Amino acid sequence: MGHSLDNLKPLIRCPVCQKKYDPSKVVLLSEDDRKTVLHIACESCGISSLVFVSLGKMGAASFGILTDLGREEVRTFYGREPVSTDDTLAVHRFLKGFTGGVREFFPEKNRH
Ligand SMILES: [Zn+2]
Repeated sequence: MGHSLDNLKPLIRCPVCQKKYDPSKVVLLSEDDRKTVLHIACESCGISSLVFVSLGKMGAASFGILTDLGREEVRTFYGREPVSTDDTLAVHRFLKGFTGGVREFFPEKNRH
């Protein structure tokens, strides 16, 4: 057994109102073997948050930060924050795989 996003989703609660999220509303921003980044919009209180889930020997640990960014604006958030190269690459991988509105994410020079 191991950790998977499906296992983690039911554990994630809104940091404001503590309501459990509807897993279908959880947006996966990046994921690797040990770290998952999610964007979640709470239907109960309307607060959006970014949730970072780290998987380690002790199990899953998560923390959330509040954001007023929508899903489409998260890339801008990442661009402004001092994130690691790994995080940046993870977001880029996510965006490349994003099936809707990819063109809005990338400036003209990055199109191929
Ligand atoms: Zn809430």
